[in-house]
Amino acid sequence: MLLTTMGVVIGERPYGENDKFVDIFTKDFGIIEVTVKGGRKLNSKNSATTALFAYSKFCVSSRGERYYLNSSQIENTFYDLRLDIKKLALASYFAELLKYTVLSYESDESYEIILKLFLNTLYFLEKDTHDILLLKSVFEFRLLSEIGLIPNLIGCCICNVYSYSKMYFDIQEGKLYCDDCFSGNESYNVISVDQSTLSALRHISLAELNILFNIKASDRLITELNKITSRYVIAHINKKFKTLEYFESIS
Ligand SMILES: [Zn+2]
Repeated sequence: MLLTTMGVVIGERPYGENDKFVDIFTKDFGIIEVTVKGGRKLNSKNSATTALFAYSKFCVSSRGERYYLNSSQIENTFYDLRLDIKKLALASYFAELLKYTVLSYESDESYEIILKLFLNTLYFLEKDTHDILLLKSVFEFRLLSEIGLIPNLIGCCICNVYSYSKMYFDIQEGKLYCDDCFSGNESYNVISVDQSTLSALRHISLAELNILFNIKASDRLITELNKITSRYVIAHINKKFKTLEYFESIS
């Protein structure tokens, strides 16, 4: 059976003498592993489309559980990401986080939106339009929101107040408390958030994708967001990402 879909390569592994496996995150089927016959030959007609981060139209044949690449047509290679070690490291982390979360949390309804989120993030990372740590926060927090781990940032979880000069975000529980209702202590997973941090978190988790990246943030806010979103990933995704460790080691 032949299937055609748009997708982006999020992983590749050599196989045999000249072949390779690629993990493709597709709009229609989520993540599929595809065998690319002759994919490692220098003159392979599919070398550009099956390189890491390439976004292409793929036509694959499926036999049982296996997929084989039939033909492909490039849309965007995101080639420049591979020329900058920090960007490459961060994009690799995005790909690893994406693969792990999409495989762990069934969410076929939102493949298309997650694919768009990933492609937009790669695009802005490649074009240098945003601080790369801001892109990291946006991608982490929005991806988790999309796969069903969205926190309740609407208001204080006790009195519902929407806005207060100081609020507390319980990262583990995904809940907000206003200063009046909060009775615990600040800790690694319970962080006080000011209004600008809270509105940035709300924007990242809830804004329409087409305005998601219309976000301006000071260095202080970026640091704050990063602290929160990286802890949010640790609290909700029980896994160490080698690509993240590498990114942090060179940052
Ligand atoms: Zn309250």
